[in-house]
Amino acid sequence: MSETPEPHPKDFARPALREHFAAEGWPKYRADQWAAWVYARGVSSYDEMTDWPVELRAEVAERWPLDVLAVEDVQVSSDGTRKARLRTADGHGIEAVLIPEAERTTLCVSTQVGCPLACSFCATGAMGFTRNLRTSEIVDQVCHMKAVAAPEAPITNVVFMGMGEPLLNRAAVEEAVHLLIDQKSFGIAPRRVTVSTAGVVPQIEPLLEAVPVSLAVSLHASRDSVRDLLVPLNKKFNLDELLSTLRSCPQITKRRPVFFEYTLIDGVNDSVEDARELIARVRGLPCKVNLIPMNAHADSPHGPPSEAVMDHFMGELSRAGVTVTLRRNRGADIDAACGQLAARDAA
Ligand code: SAH
Repeated sequence: MSETPEPHPKDFARPALREHFAAEGWPKYRADQWAAWVYARGVSSYDEMTDWPVELRAEVAERWPLDVLAVEDVQVSSDGTRKARLRTADGHGIEAVLIPEAERTTLCVSTQVGCPLACSFCATGAMGFTRNLRTSEIVDQVCHMKAVAAPEAPITNVVFMGMGEPLLNRAAVEEAVHLLIDQKSFGIAPRRVTVSTAGVVPQIEPLLEAVPVSLAVSLHASRDSVRDLLVPLNKKFNLDELLSTLRSCPQITKRRPVFFEYTLIDGVNDSVEDARELIARVRGLPCKVNLIPMNAHADSPHGPPSEAVMDHFMGELSRAGVTVTLRRNRGADIDAACGQLAARDAA
């Protein structure tokens, strides 16, 4: 392992940032101004911080350059989705995806280089795991993508659904969330920030107690025998454990429904029985089910079911009173859709 790099201002929410400014001999209010310029206004250079004396700009710029990640490449899909390939200081490629829709623009961020969970249908899982991202590396994805977003369609939602498992990097994710929802930093509404997990059961309650985010859970199967194959983590925390934990979270039962992601895979988890088991599993739990057609990619033999099968599956759920949507795949032509993020070098 390389030695831990020096902390960067983007590693800290504002209260801690104020202390770091003070430790360097700069007034604490400068930290608030720094956050306002860098996060709220989205400047990309100290030169733009016009209410700072030129000498201070130079001093702080020397101590803390603004960029943590280098932007290598931004690809634009025919549907307007933009995928950025970013590089960490120690040379690892990660990806962030911006998804403009009619009434919102969603940013999808990565939390790890690769992922240790090895879900059988996911391109990131096939890469293996390198390391956790630092808070500054998560936050800098937001800074760079803010610049990539069209001025008339600024980022309104952030989802932790890129590369990696957020709940295996909970501390860094929570600190990043603090900055996202801080009115004097990025100022995103808490309910518009969603953390997705494949089901790291012991970390779910601590996350929901620490930050008021929405929770998404990658379910993908309603039977353990199927889920064991798709999401190997299920062998550690099975469906009963996962669902009983969710049922015991007051943040879900009293405040905000949980979002279940269910990737429909041809011949694997798309039968009427699968749908009925799913209905039984989620009965009485405040939730919404997002069905995602499997995105084909080189590392998996699987593909999506036919439209007719997907419609049928969805119909079963909605007739049973389950709130369900079929997520349109965005950015598939640039490998930016769910499960396609692998930071492959462009050919
Ligand atoms: N590790 C977290 C965050 C990743 S979210 C989690 O699992 O929730 C990315 C979502 O895309 C997850 O629901 C994942 O299971 C899903 N996914 C992975 N590969 C996919 C594929 N090939 N097609 C469609 N969805 C996929």
